[in-house]
Order: sequence, then C-alpha cells, then structure tokens
Amino acid sequence: MNDEYDILRESARQFSEKEISPLAKKIDYENYFPVDLFRKMGSLGYLGVTIPVEYGGSGSDYVSQAIIEEEISYASGSMGLSYGAHSNLCLDNLYRNGSEFIRENYVASLANGKSIGSLGMTEPSSGSDALSMKTHAEFTGNKCILNGSKTFITNAPYADIFLVYARTGKDITPFVVLSSDDGFSRGPEFDKFGMRGSPTGEIYFNNIPLDESRIVGSLNNGKNVMFSGLNMERSILSFNSIGIARRALDLAVNYSIERKQFNRPIHEFELIQEKLAYMYTKFESSRVFAYEALNRVNSNKMNSLDAASSILYASESCEYIAREAMQIFGGYSYIKDFEIERLFRDSLLLTIGAGTNEIRKKIISEALIRKYRENGGKL
Ligand SMILES: Cc1cc2nc3c(=O)[nH]c(=O)nc-3n(C[C@H](O)[C@H](O)[C@H](O)COP(=O)(O)OP(=O)(O)OC[C@H]3O[C@@H](n4cnc5c(N)ncnc54)[C@H](O)[C@@H]3O)c2cc1C
Repeated sequence: MNDEYDILRESARQFSEKEISPLAKKIDYENYFPVDLFRKMGSLGYLGVTIPVEYGGSGSDYVSQAIIEEEISYASGSMGLSYGAHSNLCLDNLYRNGSEFIRENYVASLANGKSIGSLGMTEPSSGSDALSMKTHAEFTGNKCILNGSKTFITNAPYADIFLVYARTGKDITPFVVLSSDDGFSRGPEFDKFGMRGSPTGEIYFNNIPLDESRIVGSLNNGKNVMFSGLNMERSILSFNSIGIARRALDLAVNYSIERKQFNRPIHEFELIQEKLAYMYTKFESSRVFAYEALNRVNSNKMNSLDAASSILYASESCEYIAREAMQIFGGYSYIKDFEIERLFRDSLLLTIGAGTNEIRKKIISEALIRKYRENGGKL
C-alpha cells in the first residue's frame, strides 16, 4: 500500500458510504439494480481502473481494482459482484486480450460506463465442466455464425457488451457479442436468494453473424484467455468476500458492545470473545493473503494455485464470519430489518460463483502436485 492507494481507498469508501449504502436495502428487497449509479462509477474512473487513459480508463492497476471491489462490497455485496463482472471479467479481459479494433470500439465505452459488460461462460449443462460448452461458432469464409445459450450471467439483463466463449471445432474461442446483434435475446432476470440487485440471467444466440473483428485474441485460443481470465477473476472477486466479511465483523463487534444480557455487554462472555477472536483472525489472514496472491497472479496470470487459494479462503472466511455474526445477533439476526441477514445470504454465493469451492480445491491440489514435481521434490 502507498499514498496513492490510500487516497483511492478513501474516495471509494466515501462514494460507497454516501451513494451505495443508503440504497443497499432497496437493492436487496426490490432486486433493484441502480443502473445510473453504476454508470456513474465510470465517470469516477472506477469501472476502467485497470485500463490505460488512452482507452478511456484511469490507468491504474489490479491493486486499485481490488481496493474498489472491497469498498463497494462493504456497502453492498451485490454492487461489488456486478462491479467485478463488468470491470474485471468483461472489460479487463477484453483489454488484455483484444485487438486494437476491440480496444477502440468496446473498451472505452465500458470504461466510461456508457455500456455495461458481462462475461458468458456457464451454460445450462456446463457449469464446473466449462470446457464441455455447447455454444458454438461455425465459420464460412471469414464470417461465422454463433448459436447457443449461456446461463447465470451477471449483469446480463442490462449488459450491452458480452465476452462470450464458444466452441470452434475442437477448441474454444472468445467473441465479443453485442445486445444489438441480430439473433441476440435474453431471458428474464433471476429472482435470487442473495446478491439480489446484481442482475443475473440467461442469454441466447440464434444464428448471430460475427466477423473476425469480434474474435478476442486469436481463433481457437480460448482456453488461454479463459484460464488467465479466471485467475484474475478469482483474485479480484476474493475482495467481494473481504468487503462483505469486513462489514459483518464491524456489525458484530458493534452489537456485542451494545447488547447487554445478565447486566453485561455480551462481548464480556468468553464464548462471544472466542467468536470475535476467530472472526478477526480469519478476516485479517484472508485479506492479507488475498493482496499477496493478487500480486503473484498479476506477475504470472497462469498462477492458478494462488488465485484459487485466495478465493477459497476468502469465501470460506466470509461465510464463517457472516454465520458467526448471525449467532452474535441472536434472534434479531433472523429479522429482515437487520443487515446481517442480507450479508449472510450474500456470503453463500461466494463459495459457488466464479467456480465452486470444490473445483477450487481440485485446482489447488493439482497445481500443488505439479509445483512439487517441477521443483524436484519440494515446494
Ligand atoms: C449469482 C451467480 C452469478 C454468476 N455469474 C456468472 C457469470 O457472470 N458468468 C458465468 O459464466 N457464470 C456465472 N455464474 C455461474 C457459476 O460460475 C456456476 O454456477 C459455477 O461455476 C458452478 O456451476 P453449476 O452451477 O453448473 O454447478 P455444477 O457444475 O453442476 O456443480 C454442482 C455441484 O457439483 C460439484 N462438482 C462439480 N464437478 C465436480 C468435481 N469435478 N469434483 C468435485 N465436485 C464437483 C460442484 O462443486 C457443486 O457442488 C454465476 C452463478 C451465480 C449463482
């Protein structure tokens, strides 16, 4: 951390407190996506934080993106999820892998918030096994025709620009798909258990004609784009968990001071002290590791070991902290007026979205064995 990051954190915190926190309840209750507020994050430089100035961004880096992700998620986990999907999964991937044409035509409007972005990988029959996708693009000359569908896509009900993975023969290719393309349609917004207000839905491709300019990177190179993108996605979305966990911890500490039973504030009871001690330890250790992992993944985008470990631990810690905070709030935790029940519901997404924790464990152990062997029998 340095002065520049401290200034950014302070301004993202003030923005979140002033503009997002007052809406957090409405976002959850009404499944409300504050689209104008989301676009405003473009003019503040948050959406395009990793994008160079000449392409409409603010020319900063992934640490800045993580700081913004954490601060927004502290105010609303849903807004944090939509921010991550737009800024990292879609926009940053398009910038890193896209041609000059893609950078000039799509990156700037995503960075300034004129367009909303989404990433489409999951399909009804291919979730964890993403490479078994059925969506396919068939070439005739230099045109190709896209058919298929994607599900569980964050921001899909509002998005204009999609990064979509499709099968091209035996391989996978990423494409830019626009909501204005002939043959594009979308389903209704899902009514979710948590992360309400972060709009999720299905998208359908019916004979969409795409030319070569829509290929992100090169034909049949989708697995590299996908895996490097997933590693950055896991590193950044760790901070969705960390923001929610920090809020849950603040609420729990505050309640343990204010709530009195047996004529004493409940934080004086040893069983509550044990909870607070573990909550704090898990929060701090997951946060410190997530920043370290982010730096490691930034210098090697194929570092699946640290990316998966970061989000595994951050998501488990967040769920633990939110669950323990529920217990500290006692019966009040079960009442919708208390913010903690929203945080608990939101926390449960984080062990599933961006790949489940079972898959993250599989990735970690496979990478660990590989590393051990490559290092001649040590880590
Ligand atoms: C709110 C929300 C937002 C999302 N946003 C996006 C998005 O923007 N873009 C996108 O492309 N996707 C998105 N997803 C999809 C998400 O990435 C998938 O839900 C996730 O990858 C799991 O796929 P699945 O739901 O099909 O579960 P499945 O793959 O069917 O898994 C079911 C269960 O089996 C387990 N399992 C599967 N394979 C194995 C294995 N090999 N070993 C051990 N256990 C296994 C899983 O861990 C899980 O417990 C989102 C999902 C949600 C809920």
